[in-house]
Amino acid sequence: MQQKVIQMPARKRIALIAHDNMKHELIDWSRQNLQQLSQHQLFATGTTGHMLEQELQLQINKLISGPLGGDQQIGAMLVDQQIDMVIFFWDPFEPMPHDPDVKALLRIAAVWNVPVACNRSTADFVIGSALMNQSHEYRVPDYDAYIKQRIG
Ligand code: PGA
Repeated sequence: MQQKVIQMPARKRIALIAHDNMKHELIDWSRQNLQQLSQHQLFATGTTGHMLEQELQLQINKLISGPLGGDQQIGAMLVDQQIDMVIFFWDPFEPMPHDPDVKALLRIAAVWNVPVACNRSTADFVIGSALMNQSHEYRVPDYDAYIKQRIG
């Protein structure tokens, strides 16, 4: 597929999501990285966002709760380049009623070349990256070229 280069802003738009058994881990990680996180624009699924606001007094743009469609809302935002990265502590031990939504989010993040951290170690590497605080060029599918090719 043809791609084009676009610019990720220095101030990142970060989506934070945690499944119920992982929420304590995400809150703890966020507390540890509070200084860095507060320099960016934060989004979260409903319950995760409320808990992060309550525990850490972070300002969060809250979407609807994951099982009610929040993961899909985040997926749609990253297709529109409104989210630059996803920190998603999903639970590897529990099947979820909204597993199809989770899979859809991970798939669409792969399509649009959006960084996703699915565990604490990866999140540490992402938040510690020099790219976190500078604008960054990256590649996404070239939709105009894609459509041109499809319709001939
Ligand atoms: P929640 O959603 O933050 O509303 O719990 C997260 C999820 O389970 O996808």
